[in-house]
Amino acid sequence: MDKSSAVLLIFTGGTISMSEDSSTGALRPIDFERLQDFMPELNDIGVRFKSIPFTPFIDSSDMNPDIWEKMAMIIQKNYNDFDGFVILHGTDTMAYSASALSFMLENLSKPVIFTGAQLPIGMLRSDAKENMLTAIEIATAYENGQPIVPEVCIFFEDTLFRGNRTTKKNAEHFNAFNSYNYPPLAKAGVHIKYFRSYIHYNEPNLKLKVRTKTDRNVAILKLFPGITQHTVEAILHIPNLKAVVMESFGAGNAPRKKWLFDALKSANERGIIVVNRSQCSTGTVEMGRYETSLNLMHAGVLSAHDCTVEAIVTKLMYLLGEFSQPEQIKQKLTISLSGEMTVS
Ligand code: ASP
Repeated sequence: MDKSSAVLLIFTGGTISMSEDSSTGALRPIDFERLQDFMPELNDIGVRFKSIPFTPFIDSSDMNPDIWEKMAMIIQKNYNDFDGFVILHGTDTMAYSASALSFMLENLSKPVIFTGAQLPIGMLRSDAKENMLTAIEIATAYENGQPIVPEVCIFFEDTLFRGNRTTKKNAEHFNAFNSYNYPPLAKAGVHIKYFRSYIHYNEPNLKLKVRTKTDRNVAILKLFPGITQHTVEAILHIPNLKAVVMESFGAGNAPRKKWLFDALKSANERGIIVVNRSQCSTGTVEMGRYETSLNLMHAGVLSAHDCTVEAIVTKLMYLLGEFSQPEQIKQKLTISLSGEMTVS
């Protein structure tokens, strides 16, 4: 690593920073001073670094949009002083945070790399150090004065993914993440091999714009055979609801029940945005391919194309927070804002 490079490490918490509670045996966050004792390597890696620890550290199951805002503001404040940013984060909701930041950090031109671990840093077989040290290397990888990966990413085990394409897939193995609908941006072996044609480069010299307003009035409606009208109506009548991600079958199909069509149409008429996402990990919604999705279009349902659930939920929160006109929000849902979906 290059001695003149500088990286900002933002420690939010997660398993990487936990140890076993002696009385309950459950994993809980330790404090930053103890964590540093496990990482003497940080002083030898040859890059300048500064750490910003959250106090207290959090399990990422407690993540929320206020903390996304905090992370985005830290990056904005330190943007000119560092070559790259590494965010140490629990794996459970890392894909949501990476997706949210990909929308909040408009015109990003520096690497923001999320990583974490499946085992605490103090355990012998922990994956924490390798993940963290490789993430730092990627965050400071420059060529001809330009960063190689100026995107919000997740690095885990040996793979670098675009953050808003990523999903946690495994609670057991070290390869905890996958990006089902977009190729990896890099693979780390003896060397780190970057796949540049998949990496997005913003126009150089654009000023970073940080957009932190979000609206949480979003819900997920997951369809299953036998779902009742009562369940669907109850979700679509949640007070203050502004948008729903409807998780449908296969290529975006839903039961051809008249009550479902009526409920979705009425939600649309009440100004609630309904976006159709497939329950399949791989592939895309193709509304109108089957009769079972044609009706959805007539009810005013929009397509999430091949977005992950993490990306579409956070995109909705961001759009509802930043824009007030429903037509403007709907238009932005049809386009990819930050590489989160493939639209042909
Ligand atoms: N529960 C932990 C968290 O997300 C799991 C992990 O870090 O792997 O904070």
